[in-house]
Amino acid sequence: MIELHLHLDGSLRVETALDLAREQKIVLPTEDVGELRNLMEVPEDCKTLHECLKRFDLPIMLIQTESAVERVTFELVEDLHKLGVTYAEIRFAPQFSTAKGLTQDQVVAAAIKGAKRGMEMYPAIRCGLILCCMRGDNIEEKNLETVEVAKKHMGDVVCAIDLAGAESLFPTAMFEPVFEKAKAYGLPVTIHAGEAIGEVPGPESMRKALAYGAKRIGHGVLALEDETLIKELIEKDITLEICVTSNYHTKLVSSLKEHPIKKLFDVGVKVTFNSDNMTVSNTNIHKEIEILKTQLGFTDEEMNIMQNYAREAAFIK
Ligand SMILES: [Zn+2]
Repeated sequence: MIELHLHLDGSLRVETALDLAREQKIVLPTEDVGELRNLMEVPEDCKTLHECLKRFDLPIMLIQTESAVERVTFELVEDLHKLGVTYAEIRFAPQFSTAKGLTQDQVVAAAIKGAKRGMEMYPAIRCGLILCCMRGDNIEEKNLETVEVAKKHMGDVVCAIDLAGAESLFPTAMFEPVFEKAKAYGLPVTIHAGEAIGEVPGPESMRKALAYGAKRIGHGVLALEDETLIKELIEKDITLEICVTSNYHTKLVSSLKEHPIKKLFDVGVKVTFNSDNMTVSNTNIHKEIEILKTQLGFTDEEMNIMQNYAREAAFIK
């Protein structure tokens, strides 16, 4: 099984969060694993993508040291291996782990170390790391640094850059200089777009992402609003990294059954299925497969076709 879209900070083990807090003398709102799990998961009444993104504050607070970053990366590789995943691309924003003095370069080096330790211990899994630039105000310098760090580490583990965060508040068009630089460096790009309903329509956001050279788009669910865009996605052989449970949590769809992944698949768009955040969305690749088969009408054969799309779109060949 293949996972192309999975966030490190959204997939932390709850037990590890407790451990890291104790080690770093950080006081959490609770010491109880069950209660902490509730705090780390998206609540049912979460109203928007940017409200859901608040769920990441706690895990991010805990991954501010090299050993914490190394550990959580290793553990995610281990968890994925135990789920039967054989190829995964794990993403995170290095700029989020610099609050206590680490440089983005150190953060990425620590994550690479954790990923490599995971792959050495579990040779059946191959993992890549995608470095996320973030949507936000006054953030260009940090994003440009992420691109530099990606260029430096690009290789057998670091495989691409991404743009993540609150799409409705910070439109894709704001990030042109960042992706110009990525293009100049020839870095592979995937961008979260067409994920949130905001002032800028989803298809316009996705067109920007394509103009920035994205070969894959995170979510892209709102493409269906625009026939010309659908044609363009097919012609340009763009792969969508779809995360059904996550889209339900961010209220992009009002029920799992209404998710348009099957419609996108049926019109010929290369869609893949992914977990996005194993802890925050309380999901994993098996739960996603179950939803696709029981609620969205995918056959086993169609599931295999999507896994082939994922294999073809992998950034590490
Ligand atoms: Zn995502």
